[in-house]
Amino acid sequence: MDIEKLKAQVTREIDAHHHQLSELSLKIHANPELGFHEVKAADWLTRYLEENSFSIERGICELPTAFKASYGQGKPAIAILAEYDALPSLGHACGHNLIAACAVGAGVASKPAIDQFGGSILVIGTPAEELYGGKIMMADRGAFNDMDVAMIVHPGTSDIATTQALACQTLDIEFFGRAAHAAAQPEAGINALEAMLQSFAAINSLRQHIKSTARIHGIITDGGEAANIVPAHSAGNFIVRAEEDDYLDKLKQRVINCFIGAATASGARLEYKWGDTRYAPMRNNIPLAQLFTQNMESLERRVAISEPDSGFGSTDMGNVSQLVPSIHPFVAIAEKEILIHSPQFASAAASERGIEGMLDATKALAMTVVDLLANDETVTKVKEEFRQSK
Ligand SMILES: [Zn+2]
Ligand SMILES: [Zn+2]
Repeated sequence: MDIEKLKAQVTREIDAHHHQLSELSLKIHANPELGFHEVKAADWLTRYLEENSFSIERGICELPTAFKASYGQGKPAIAILAEYDALPSLGHACGHNLIAACAVGAGVASKPAIDQFGGSILVIGTPAEELYGGKIMMADRGAFNDMDVAMIVHPGTSDIATTQALACQTLDIEFFGRAAHAAAQPEAGINALEAMLQSFAAINSLRQHIKSTARIHGIITDGGEAANIVPAHSAGNFIVRAEEDDYLDKLKQRVINCFIGAATASGARLEYKWGDTRYAPMRNNIPLAQLFTQNMESLERRVAISEPDSGFGSTDMGNVSQLVPSIHPFVAIAEKEILIHSPQFASAAASERGIEGMLDATKALAMTVVDLLANDETVTKVKEEFRQSK
């Protein structure tokens, strides 16, 4: 069968599952569950995959709401990733309900391509993207080791084939000083809040002389107890981000130097701890992004390969993209003015436009699977670009 006929078959398959997929995404939307508590969503998704002849392993990587569903055998092993966690108080304001339906829908629709060409299609359930970076733990525990390609589509406000995601790490800071009466005996005190404020000033100065794509931002979580007591303790949380891993390492040291300088100047003692989870930058596989783009365009969607004006975030898909050739495109489900992680975006994730976007992304992913399976050279090209981009 030629590729175009097979693509037409997989898109028909998705149209035939239209109701089940939109129901699944609306059900997850109506039952938001936070990271690592996505019990209902993981259950609904694995049941759908099981009913469609996938073999399921639940609770992989010692994470109860993670799963691996597979159809077919051997190479190439193509993974489509699902996210299904919600945000505190906002529900599905990042639209992960749509990502979930898209992943299972594309997995199931890819079956005829596996039947014809061999290889395997895997749908990987990856919990807790928002709060804990679940994929980072899964990557460390080997979940993506045997895969040739990994793909996930995220809802957004424009159709873009690549993602600009920065490496990042969180930082907890504490300064310990000495309490004293702020008027009667200020000379006896050591001001932990002043140490924190000087750190902010030093970081603000540093910010003029770092790469424009790097980010340093923080808050004060303890600034003292009363205006008439010299603050004996101050605390803050910071995030440091950079486009490349090695630049992040350099920047981390320069940020710490700001705190050390403030500790020296104020006499307060500094304690700091870097977060356990480090997000890797997104390494977009261009041949994969091009295939996805062409397939989206066959559905009358205009897709940009990249959009320099779009903002920078960080995603745990970055860590997957360091191990396996990956894409993390965006599909538009709302107007550009709508902010992701807002109540308006949560509504968009359950809207007709949201469902339409999800179905187009599902079709484009399944057609990309057809492209990868139909021609060995395509996977070779994808892997070659991955090696060269290291
Ligand atoms: Zn989000
Ligand atoms: Zn998200």
